[in-house]
Amino acid sequence: MEKLFEESIANVSRMRKISDAEMDLFYKADKAADELFLPEYEHYIKREFNPETPKILSKYGILGIPIKAEYGGLGMDPIISVLAKERLGQLGMGISSFINVQVFLCAQGIQRWGNEEQRNSYIPKMVKNEKVFCFGLTEPEAGSDPASLSTSYKKDGSGYRISGTKYLISNGTISDYMIAFARSDHVNGEISAFIVDMRGEGIERVELKEKIGLFTSDTGMITMDDVSVPEENLLGPIGKGIQVAYSSLFNARLGVAAGCVGVIEAALNASVKRARERFQHGKEIGKHQLIQGHLSAIRQNLEEARWPTYIAALKKGEYEKDYSNREMMLDAEMRISLAKRIASKLAFDSADRAVQIHGGFGYSLMSPVGQLFCDSRVARIYEGTDEIQDLKIASSLLGKEYEAYS
Ligand SMILES: Cc1cc2nc3c(=O)[nH]c(=O)nc-3n(C[C@H](O)[C@H](O)[C@H](O)COP(=O)(O)OP(=O)(O)OC[C@H]3O[C@@H](n4cnc5c(N)ncnc54)[C@H](O)[C@@H]3O)c2cc1C
Repeated sequence: MEKLFEESIANVSRMRKISDAEMDLFYKADKAADELFLPEYEHYIKREFNPETPKILSKYGILGIPIKAEYGGLGMDPIISVLAKERLGQLGMGISSFINVQVFLCAQGIQRWGNEEQRNSYIPKMVKNEKVFCFGLTEPEAGSDPASLSTSYKKDGSGYRISGTKYLISNGTISDYMIAFARSDHVNGEISAFIVDMRGEGIERVELKEKIGLFTSDTGMITMDDVSVPEENLLGPIGKGIQVAYSSLFNARLGVAAGCVGVIEAALNASVKRARERFQHGKEIGKHQLIQGHLSAIRQNLEEARWPTYIAALKKGEYEKDYSNREMMLDAEMRISLAKRIASKLAFDSADRAVQIHGGFGYSLMSPVGQLFCDSRVARIYEGTDEIQDLKIASSLLGKEYEAYS
């Protein structure tokens, strides 16, 4: 098993007993990461999503970790998802993004908010990768403030018709379904969530290729023009779309933190190797003290990112036992914001230091650390920006009346 992953499991096992089934899953996550390493690297260079990736993730059970057994998953706690995601995060944010969307945003979203028919009809297929989902919240004019979204729905017989544009959507052009958020055309303009079949008439999709990283993750723009959605595809109660969105983002935000811990580990592993192998001024660069300073800083980043992420996962696990406990929810939410804020900042810093240690070779997409550098920047933007996490953390200190955004 990969050494830093093994160390992480040992760390967590000091706080919580790890069962045999969980340990077995960690071995599978480790195997999946080994199997995906080379293809992921090669597809990154070609700047394309690898359709084999989800199949391999599914084969090793990764797409079902937090999903209940009755829907084909493993029903494991958030801390187990976090550790498995950490290992896969060592391969960069592309695989991490797929897992975030398919599992944490969409499958868990349907598990929490869907009715029994929806759960049975979609979740087992998502776990087996027979159906891929995307999560359509962001729009060209609504990002950090999703409550201002303008995609609209109107009642049409027993179903609905949706029109509008979703922007920067991961899995956008490869998905079979989208959880789409839209506003009622009624005066109250309430927001609801829908499961939209992407093969429906009136849907157009374009891939957004001009990103500065995250090349193995598909990102798309989706236009819906009077798309028909049957009544049974309403997800959660009518008018509760923002709650559906926020509770799903809550899952995914923790997933981002876990992926970032993996990025730091990958940056550390690559940097130690390079420091031993590269000679300049007559000795290994690892014998130059300034390079040792960077290595020490990355190692410190790892410690600083790991613990808040594990604590957030444990808190989330406690809250999931009783969704009605508001105090626990607020505590878990704040912990998750802290974890994402800290881990994403330190992942970017670690990737930057790793590029520095690799010199000119690091400044290339051919170099795994160059890939980590380009990828990790997005973690400070998606699933809620740095600034939005800061506002959440500050309002948890000051009280709700100080919330600096509506
Ligand atoms: C590669 C990628 C994949 C993505 N995948 C998805 C996806 O699958 N589904 C989806 O729905 N979205 C997705 N997103 C969108 C992402 O969630 C948004 O980009 C993010 O929420 C920020 O919104 P924005 O880009 O519109 O920035 P804006 O909201 O315009 O923010 C611009 C700046 O203003 C700051 N700001 C905004 N409001 C405040 C405030 N009140 N106080 C202080 N500062 C503020 C922000 O922090 C930021 O620094 C993805 C984005 C990227 C880049």
